[in-house]
Amino acid sequence: MQPQVSLRKRLSISLIMLLGLCATLATTYWYHLEQGFARIQPLANRQLTEVINFIDGALIRYESIPHVLSTNPMLASALAHSDNLEEIRHINRYFEEIQHVTEASDIYLLNSHGDAIAASNWQKSYSFIGQNYAFRPYYTEAIAGRLGSYYAVGTSSDTRGFYFSYPIVEKGKVLGIIVVKVDIADIEEQLTGLAKAGQYELAISGLDHVIFLASMDSWRLKSLTPLTDEAQNEIYQSRRYANRIISALSVKPPYDITHSNNRALYHIAHDDGREEFLDTRGTMIKAGWDVHVLTPVKPLYASLPLTLLLAASVFLLLGLGLMFSLERRKNMRRMQQAHNLLEMRVKERTQELESANIKLQETQDELVQAAKLTVIGSLSASINHEINQPLAALRSYAQNTQTLLQRDMQDKAKENLSTIISLADRLAEIVAQFKSFTRKSQGQEKANSLNDTLGEALTIVNPEIVKQHIELRLSLPEQPVSFFGDKVRLQQVLVNIISNAIVAMQQVDYRLLTISVTQSDKLQIQIKDSGPGVHESQMEKIFEPYFTTSQRQGLGLGLSISRRIIESMNGTISVANAAEGGAEFVILLPLCPENNQG
Ligand code: ADP
Repeated sequence: MQPQVSLRKRLSISLIMLLGLCATLATTYWYHLEQGFARIQPLANRQLTEVINFIDGALIRYESIPHVLSTNPMLASALAHSDNLEEIRHINRYFEEIQHVTEASDIYLLNSHGDAIAASNWQKSYSFIGQNYAFRPYYTEAIAGRLGSYYAVGTSSDTRGFYFSYPIVEKGKVLGIIVVKVDIADIEEQLTGLAKAGQYELAISGLDHVIFLASMDSWRLKSLTPLTDEAQNEIYQSRRYANRIISALSVKPPYDITHSNNRALYHIAHDDGREEFLDTRGTMIKAGWDVHVLTPVKPLYASLPLTLLLAASVFLLLGLGLMFSLERRKNMRRMQQAHNLLEMRVKERTQELESANIKLQETQDELVQAAKLTVIGSLSASINHEINQPLAALRSYAQNTQTLLQRDMQDKAKENLSTIISLADRLAEIVAQFKSFTRKSQGQEKANSLNDTLGEALTIVNPEIVKQHIELRLSLPEQPVSFFGDKVRLQQVLVNIISNAIVAMQQVDYRLLTISVTQSDKLQIQIKDSGPGVHESQMEKIFEPYFTTSQRQGLGLGLSISRRIIESMNGTISVANAAEGGAEFVILLPLCPENNQG
């Protein structure tokens, strides 16, 4: 169940990350292009204004020339006498001169029927003289008495030009028309230079959407939109582009002639292939032209992959950072929970251990007590003897006293009574020693006299020592020494060791028990017997609980309890076999502060 949930979770996180990445990339893509367009659009607008101003400036120079020329009476006269060759030749030369000075392409004179009767190109192979231009709108306009303007490809010269015409009027009657043709190629060349410098392309189309002027050779005299047969026919009839059939430029998406979309982006085929352009349009109403500044958008895409990569990296970094911090938080929460749980368990276990410890302590106390009673049990015969002896003496003294009193021997009886009292005191003293030894220790730790404690322990074991005919050699320091701890406990240890020695010496005839106390940096109690000693293999075992070789009621607890007692007093207990035979127990205890002072 768990792995399935985490798999589903992982899948949904991956899906969210993927969607987030796609959204980031889409937004970055959109933002990058928007920023790019926002940067290039104002520049394109400026370039458009610059181009329009340039064309206006270029054409305006020629606009007034026909008007000025029309005022020359020589022209009206020539129109009136068109058969006067001398006069025509004169005008031809006049036109040629004006053409040179103004840098116009051609200047020519049409009669009222539209026939060219004089022209600046009178000597050229494509001379206009004799041609009829009545089909040209500039003729129609001027013959109606107005300034005419028109652009077209010359039918004779096959060059593109912009035409300005003006009527020659005499006495209210239009005698003919003067026409000035401006070569578009020159203007185009300069505009192309401008466009190349500004890193854009330029196209100028007319109302028929046919490109008349372009910075790109392959765009020239191509239609921005596919032409219907009707439109094609109309263009052909007008002879604006001489006898050319106009083909359409490959523009994708199809060119929007209504200019309805805000940002006009088109893929347009050109000399070097196909490219996407931003079309910035402006209209020259008088010339009837649409000027297109076409800015290539390819540079905008050049830095796009890097920007996208950067955005993706930032997104992934942020995403990973977020995931990491969420995971960390979750882990910390989990760790906190585990910690709390652990703390609770530790508390529970501590409580359990505490109660187990209390129980253990109780059990240990019971054991200590049991071990003590065992020792007392093993000594009971000699203790009995120790008590019975004064009791028997008491009895005989009492009987004797009775007899003395009957004989009225008061003084002797008094003497006997004092002996009885001292015997009773001695009994009380013996019983008090046992009472003190067998009572449960209260664990009172304080400075105690080692001499007293050893004396009391000997009181308990002495009857058995006497009974077993053991020689006791006691060697104590001159100054009494003390130890820090529980007196009853140390007593128990001493009684244990001495009792064990007494038991061991039962196997030998020569029985000597040596107890010596010395004090240097530690307090040392040495208890040596003349028994058979401890078997080497049992040296350490004898301190283990329940290890016993005793055939009697030994529990095997005496030494293990003794070691625990001595260790609780920060001391040590060890055993070794003496060189002359017998076991030698050594107890080392820290010095009591009182001893130091002493
Ligand atoms: P217990 O006296 O009930 O056997 P202890 O723990 O007091 O238990 O002693 C363990 C064993 O150590 C004894 O049974 C005995 O084999 C050995 N032991 C103790 N003291 C001496 C000694 N002085 N000489 C030889 N063996 C000893």
